Amino acid sequence: MFLTIFCRNTTIPAKPSSRGYKYDLNSCSYPVGVPDQVEARNAASGHGFSPARIHYLGVALLLLALTLLVLGSWLLFIPLAALALLVLAAPFWPRAQLFLPIVCHGPRRGGKVALTFDDGPDPETTPKLLDLLDKHSVSAAFFIIGDKAEAHPDLIKAILARGHEIGNHSQTHDPILMLRRKRTLLKQIEACQKTLVRFGIAPLAFRPPVGITNPRLRPVMKRLGMYIVVFDCAGRDVGNRRVQGLADRILLRVRPGSIIVFHDRRPAEGIAVEEWLGEVETVIRGVKNRGLQTVLLSELIGRPVMELFRNGPNPSNTES
Ligand SMILES: [Zn+2]
Repeated sequence: MFLTIFCRNTTIPAKPSSRGYKYDLNSCSYPVGVPDQVEARNAASGHGFSPARIHYLGVALLLLALTLLVLGSWLLFIPLAALALLVLAAPFWPRAQLFLPIVCHGPRRGGKVALTFDDGPDPETTPKLLDLLDKHSVSAAFFIIGDKAEAHPDLIKAILARGHEIGNHSQTHDPILMLRRKRTLLKQIEACQKTLVRFGIAPLAFRPPVGITNPRLRPVMKRLGMYIVVFDCAGRDVGNRRVQGLADRILLRVRPGSIIVFHDRRPAEGIAVEEWLGEVETVIRGVKNRGLQTVLLSELIGRPVMELFRNGPNPSNTES
């Protein structure tokens, strides 16, 4: 079904400059969703199997269990139990990459970091956040919820017009999305893509709600020609319910290559938006004081986060 939507438009890989995107319509391009092109993008996105450390650990545990079985030792249940625990814990530990390749951070050498904002757009926070990012000449990636994009189209246009990137964070942000069937996963991610196509973009990066993955995600990503990006530096803000000390917690963990995550949503009752913005600004300043450069997510990880449609609407057009 998604083919009919994507086929008609030609897209161009988004080309970030030091401050935002350059809309270079002469770039060579490929349509999103055409099977052979999706295949080519999958090959470039690392959808082929490349073993992670957890796979070697799993094989080692299995071999140990087999050896103990041959020796007739009851101790074989220990590596088997460890293996079962590993598989059960893997969905909540995406960085282990048991089920599929996941981008967690950029190169540790090079002194660059990227800011990412989940769960927006939000009329109470997004406009002020965009002003703050402008003030510091910093660009970021926004992992958008499709329903919110539909409700606030002007905010999506403003995000794009100011040179930021947009990724897919599902259509409704169902917290137990990863426990659902493959069909529901596909529907949720595809619906968000369709919403964002109306703004002239197609995200290539998907961030799962609440950071949980599962084995059913791999074929869905492959079908849509997308890849997963999580983060390695969070302030444990519980969706902006815990804002006090947020900057300190992030600055304690940040290191070269870090993908930092915030939530672009109104803070919990009793917490002012300005307080949250103050924490974000402290992080921007703190990162700079450590000699780290804040760059676009695509620049940090070395692959495009979204595509621009050649015939799509102009992001600088602010009509709804
Ligand atoms: Zn989220």
